[in-house]
Amino acid sequence: MKKKLMKALVYHGPGNKSWEEKEKPVIQHPSDAIVRITKTTICGTDLHILKGDVPEVVDGRTLGHEGVGVIEETGGFVTRFKKGDHVLISCITSCGICEYCRKGIYSHCENGGWILGHLIDGTQAEYVRIPYADTSLYKIPDNSDEEALVMLSDILPTGYECGVLNGKIEPGSTVAIIGAGPIGLAALLTAQFYAPSEIIMIDPDDNRLSVAKKMGATKTINNHVEMATEKVLSFTQNKGVDTVIEAVGIPETFELCQSLVVAGGVIANVGVHGKSVNLHLEQLWSKNITITTRLVDTSSTPMLMKTVQSGKLNSKQLITHRFKLFEIIRAYECFGQAAKEKSLKVILSND
Ligand code: ZN
Ligand code: ZN
Repeated sequence: MKKKLMKALVYHGPGNKSWEEKEKPVIQHPSDAIVRITKTTICGTDLHILKGDVPEVVDGRTLGHEGVGVIEETGGFVTRFKKGDHVLISCITSCGICEYCRKGIYSHCENGGWILGHLIDGTQAEYVRIPYADTSLYKIPDNSDEEALVMLSDILPTGYECGVLNGKIEPGSTVAIIGAGPIGLAALLTAQFYAPSEIIMIDPDDNRLSVAKKMGATKTINNHVEMATEKVLSFTQNKGVDTVIEAVGIPETFELCQSLVVAGGVIANVGVHGKSVNLHLEQLWSKNITITTRLVDTSSTPMLMKTVQSGKLNSKQLITHRFKLFEIIRAYECFGQAAKEKSLKVILSND
């Protein structure tokens, strides 16, 4: 039988990608579903892969781990979805039965975890194969705004689980978020579920800081022109903040977190770190602080879907640019030059 073809964004080693013809995915296991992508997006992680920072990604891999679409075909074990259902794809694939899944730590699923656009072909394509469809997809209610829901594949659960939940934000507490990119802004939006008294955004890009102000930041600091530590101390009676969220992933910003946290506070790391960092235990050993790390489990996705559906969370604010799926190379340029293009999330539509 002749193989069917589709178009996909394919990785060909560091610095190389192309929009090209590739075999359309087929059911490989009875728990798989094939999804026709209707909307997808590009993540900062995709840029890391293209720089060669994620060596497990091999030549020929279709990138992308976010998106919504329509079920095209299901394997014999899939019971919760049928052809024609609209679905949200989670960046985390979970089998639902391994030891980690039984504990709710889906990010470390022994049969899944972050595999899309990483260890198996991803969502920046006309079609994608989703393993463990029953436990890795979410049904989208009729008449939903699918663009708004694409933001729930990765960035909103990441900002919420790794930043806000781990950071133990409470009513009236003080928060600093380092990094006003899409993830930092996702943490900013979801931190407001808990009504903290201050949310201070720290970033070197004035445009992103003005976006953060519109999304609810109470104060902003441009750390290229101002001394972030002194400023934060001046806002907090020389104490520091209860929660510091690190949403950049470089040694300098993790060090900054350590000088901003108040005694008894939390440093919640979200950033993807490629280098070791200095830990100032000589200053922190007696401060009763907590440092947390986490890979998103997407266990908050059903809750976040409800907040988007009800209008409590306006996830669409994070979208700055829209392209057709076949314009994806141009979309990568726009997303990759975020400061120049004033870009946050880009939406790619396949219609
Ligand atoms: Zn991502
Ligand atoms: Zn599992």
